[in-house]
Amino acid sequence: MKTKHNLVFATNNLHKLEEIKKLLGDRYNILSLSDIGFSGDIPEDADNLVDNALQKVKFIYDKYNCNCFADDTGLEVDALGGEPGVYSARYAGEPADSKRNLEKLMKNMKNVSNRVARFRTVIALIFDKKEYIFHGVAEGEITTEKRGKEGFGYDPVFQPEGYNQTFAEMPLEMKNPISHRGKASAELLKFLKK
Ligand code: IMP
Repeated sequence: MKTKHNLVFATNNLHKLEEIKKLLGDRYNILSLSDIGFSGDIPEDADNLVDNALQKVKFIYDKYNCNCFADDTGLEVDALGGEPGVYSARYAGEPADSKRNLEKLMKNMKNVSNRVARFRTVIALIFDKKEYIFHGVAEGEITTEKRGKEGFGYDPVFQPEGYNQTFAEMPLEMKNPISHRGKASAELLKFLKK
């Protein structure tokens, strides 16, 4: 059997880890931050997704000197001028709280007719000492009610284009190929296969 190479995913989010392991796990031994003995928060205070993803991956690379990647995701709502965008994790303030973020979004979208939105993911990879960036976008709309129990974050109110279910009503096998992170991971995988 071929040995799988280690690749560290710089996240504490177990949902993200599960998604990525489903996508890359048969080729790489995906290690989480707890697997490499890191606990705590990684700084992410840039004003755009690319710099945030780079900030996270460099932080871990500098400490552990390993091949690793980090992602940063934002939900852009057209009627809110692209908000919450890069501030999606802390939309309702500190400390980051997904439930409060979702409530704030629903409040701001009350009676708003243009519900067009998209998730955007940037993955930053450091591989053999070089930096790479991969992108993924999922277009869709913000529903008027929360629906579904799967997933995390804004999933219960995001309905991807061409589907009747929200991400939270989809099993991971269905969300992954059409999601922002799934698409960015596909780009990452394409690179890693080369
Ligand atoms: P970050 O990439 O972990 O900084 O995520 C930013 C914010 O977007 C957090 O509030 C996450 O909960 C949310 N988020 C990230 N990815 C997803 C997703 O796939 N579905 C729903 N919410 C997400």
